[in-house]
Amino acid sequence: MTKHRVWHLRGGIYPPENKAQSLQQPIRSMPLPAQLIVPLQQYIGSPAIPCVSIGQYVFKGQLIANSPQAISAPVHAPSSGIITQIGQHPVIHPSPLEQPCITIDLDGKDTWIAHQGSPDYAGQSQDDLLLRIRAAGIIGLGGAGFPTAAKLHTSGQKIKTLIINGAECEPYITTDDILMRERAADIVTGIQVIAHILQPEEIFIGIEDNKTAAITQMEQATLDTGIEVVVIPTQYPSGGERQLIKILTGKEVPADNLIAQSGVIVQNIGTAYSIFEAIVHGKPLISRVTTLSGQALGTPGNVEALIGTPIKHLLHHAGLDTQQVFRIIVGGPMMGFSLISTELPLSKTTNCLIAATRDEMPPPPPEQDCIRCGLCADVCPVTLLPQQLYFFSKSQELDKAEQHNIFDCIECGACAYVCPSHIPLVQYYRHTKGSIEIQNNKENKSGHARRRFENRNARLQQEENDKIAKRQARINTVTVIAPVTNQTLSAENNAMEIARLKTAAATSAKLAVDAKKALIQAERKQAQNLDSLREQVETLQKNAEQARQQLLKAQETETPSEAAAASHSANTATLAAPQTSADKIAAALARNEARKIQQERARAVTSNSTESTLAHPDLTAPNTAEKASSTTEKTQNTRHPSHKDS
Ligand code: SF4
Ligand code: SF4
Repeated sequence: MTKHRVWHLRGGIYPPENKAQSLQQPIRSMPLPAQLIVPLQQYIGSPAIPCVSIGQYVFKGQLIANSPQAISAPVHAPSSGIITQIGQHPVIHPSPLEQPCITIDLDGKDTWIAHQGSPDYAGQSQDDLLLRIRAAGIIGLGGAGFPTAAKLHTSGQKIKTLIINGAECEPYITTDDILMRERAADIVTGIQVIAHILQPEEIFIGIEDNKTAAITQMEQATLDTGIEVVVIPTQYPSGGERQLIKILTGKEVPADNLIAQSGVIVQNIGTAYSIFEAIVHGKPLISRVTTLSGQALGTPGNVEALIGTPIKHLLHHAGLDTQQVFRIIVGGPMMGFSLISTELPLSKTTNCLIAATRDEMPPPPPEQDCIRCGLCADVCPVTLLPQQLYFFSKSQELDKAEQHNIFDCIECGACAYVCPSHIPLVQYYRHTKGSIEIQNNKENKSGHARRRFENRNARLQQEENDKIAKRQARINTVTVIAPVTNQTLSAENNAMEIARLKTAAATSAKLAVDAKKALIQAERKQAQNLDSLREQVETLQKNAEQARQQLLKAQETETPSEAAAASHSANTATLAAPQTSADKIAAALARNEARKIQQERARAVTSNSTESTLAHPDLTAPNTAEKASSTTEKTQNTRHPSHKDS
């Protein structure tokens, strides 16, 4: 017997035990069911995501769902068979609830996937061991179901005390008790793996003094290991995490503190055994020991049950008397709840099923008014004011319930157990907690919607600001485009000069030809001023030749680089022009200016030609000058597209 000091647990109750009926036989296996329905969220944290598909064959122990989230645990096939369904299915929960599940039709062969363990845990790093614990899908098997690898990952926090919880204070449950009786050495190996990861200064196994056989086995298994078995008084709820810490260390861990911050970590007996299986044998968590109890069962006891086994299969093979059963309770009678269906699958946290008769667990007496006796406050291990929480819950004063620390309530049910008015206090508290969470979610959602609205407005404002800035930048660009526009003008002038010279050459040539025709007719008519006419024809021919030479010279002068520059300028102008009204105005001004220059030059050429023609009105066709001018304009209009724009 240990000499380690134990501290007194405030409050608590001493309900009658009913553990004996499930401790009459050793742990036994159950026949394989035809089908397993494996829930994907059997723990606190993010649900696992299926990594198999319908129709796929899976081996026993094969990974079927996983999650990248830190607070999560992989899920493995508990036996071999075909995946037949992936979808929602009712699961064990205080309120009827459906969750994602994977259904496997078993082939009955129970064929394992290749797996390998390593007894040399001491030669492995802490990180490797944590990875293997996570990969095995291990969660806390005491009831809460927190992923074990996440709990053991202390981020450098020094852990002084490792506590292994073997208290098992619920009156019917015996899974830890029988595990300690039958598998003590393996449990100790699992504890040593945990200790290798955490390197604690002290390790305690807390066991209530009503488990003498288990205490004996564990004391023998821990000889010379440095692990100390501490026997504690049987008192409900000594198995609560914070309550056991108080009993074994005297530390009060505030409800709003992480337990690891106080330098203590608590692991369950069943969890330590699962770690042994994972590290030493390489087996994932695909089954658990579950207590089947209650007077409606012919053969109660503890069974090694595959995760996902339908409850009715387990109860059937435990000899369920369907005539006698009054209700099925999952968990213990203190913290458990009644099931409305036996079609639900066993999960990793299902530690007990009670098929109770009416005499065993009769319906509760009718609820009466609170008489303010204060008994509930006397037994509360968390020093809450249960009757106040009850009033706030009944009147739905959620804020006041929260202010009175309703979330510190561990739902142990000690207050309801002693209440003379038979008020189902825990049910009130659960409902109120749910209402507060819904309210908080709504507030979070409305806060989220408000933030989204504000973000949207900010985004729209930013877009408007960007538009204004771009607009301003384009206006400023006009000054940058201006020199380019001048280049365009220069290029256009070159082109127009050549066009003008072509027109002038053609016009001069035509005038010379017309004059020559007129001279021929005059010679036929034997006119008097033939010499003068001949002289003018020669002049016109000279003019025509001169215009042709000018044109040739201009065409030769235009180099490829100039043409390319002109082309680039034209392209630049073309690209820049349509962008903004400011650009268009700048381009139009440039074109207008060019057009004016061209027209002035064309008028000058026409004027020269007209002057030559008007000097000999009898030799030329009527309105030759107008014709030349018209031809010039027509040519300009045809060859200079900017006129269309103007
Ligand atoms: S035990 Fe029941 S009757 Fe007494 S104060 Fe608490 S809630 Fe009221
Ligand atoms: S159920 Fe909550 S309020 Fe009642 S005794 Fe337990 S911890 Fe206290």
